[in-house]
Amino acid sequence: MAWQSILDQERVVETLRRALQQERVAHAYLFHGPEGVGKRAVALEMARALQCTEQTTEACDECRACQKTRRMVHPDVHVLFPYPKGTDEGDVAERIQRLGENPYAAVDFVRRPSLSDPSETSNKQVMYHIDRVQDDLLRPMSFRPGEGAYKVALVTDVEYMNETAANAFLKLLEEPPPQTVFLLTTNRPEQLLPTIVSRCQRLRFDPLLPESIETALVEREGVDADAAAMLARMADGSYSHALDLAQNDALMTSRELVLDYFRAAYTQKVESLTSCIQEIAGQGREQVKGVLRLMLRWVRDLMLYRTMGDEASLVNVDQAEAVARFCRNLPDADLETMVTLVEEALHLTERNVRVRLVLTSLAQALARAMRGRSPGSLYEPLPDAELRAVQAT
Ligand SMILES: [Zn+2]
Repeated sequence: MAWQSILDQERVVETLRRALQQERVAHAYLFHGPEGVGKRAVALEMARALQCTEQTTEACDECRACQKTRRMVHPDVHVLFPYPKGTDEGDVAERIQRLGENPYAAVDFVRRPSLSDPSETSNKQVMYHIDRVQDDLLRPMSFRPGEGAYKVALVTDVEYMNETAANAFLKLLEEPPPQTVFLLTTNRPEQLLPTIVSRCQRLRFDPLLPESIETALVEREGVDADAAAMLARMADGSYSHALDLAQNDALMTSRELVLDYFRAAYTQKVESLTSCIQEIAGQGREQVKGVLRLMLRWVRDLMLYRTMGDEASLVNVDQAEAVARFCRNLPDADLETMVTLVEEALHLTERNVRVRLVLTSLAQALARAMRGRSPGSLYEPLPDAELRAVQAT
């Protein structure tokens, strides 16, 4: 498959192919861009192309080197994840293995504290500690390659390097040993030391096209065509997000919850609102974010339906009737404000504000927006005694 296995990102792939062809591969590349668009996948494919003994611009998939890079056992390819102190070596090895099987899968400790339970979140600090950078990066990369043409290090989520580690790494980047290639990936290039960034050739990754995600879900994951169309539109250009959604049995339940929440918010019936918030919040912070993203989809569908009627191509195809009913019954609803409010709630949830509080304030503000009144902001304190009672639950 080689480069063909990469979804979109033609500009990036072309740049790397040309560098390989002209034998002008940089010592260090920084792949930056949104989550789940293939930065690690491209880095792995680049590592494979560099080690392949038969072809220059891409992995042949046949030679011994290609077989080893495919199985993630090539001695001159080092893959690093940041992880919490005390993490089991076997856990790390399994994640690297899974990455080899599907380079788009979310297998890192940042997004998946536990491989077996995708909904689990962790408070343990994920980090590249200096001792690990010494043992797993600096030392192996200062030797000559053992059997490949290059020594390649894939340093994922490089923004998780603390300052001491980053400075030690910088020394190596400033005087890279011959035949070494560093492939760094990050969603947040602004958090890196400028001195590290300036040592790298930067390549920006774009969000994926929904059509590419849809095709990949059908062809690679065996998702049925209708579901793939819906998931691709929900995935915000991120294939790993689409994979998460596809594997998430709770997704359909969450979509029902969104409707229940909107209903409860509108009627302001404390009891139904409380139980709805309980159910959403009980699923953990990651799931709450998922539900809030579904809310955004829903309101965007309302906007589409309001302008285009039955012609609208909705994300929630199967909930078209509910969308139509909402638009009929609440013609004055301020949909733009509803989007802003949900985005604000998402932001607060990411910033570790108590989720019950966020969902309660959001319900109150949405109720006003659904009636077309100015809803204020989520950041305002809640004066209402009844709603305080909801928070206390
Ligand atoms: Zn090969």
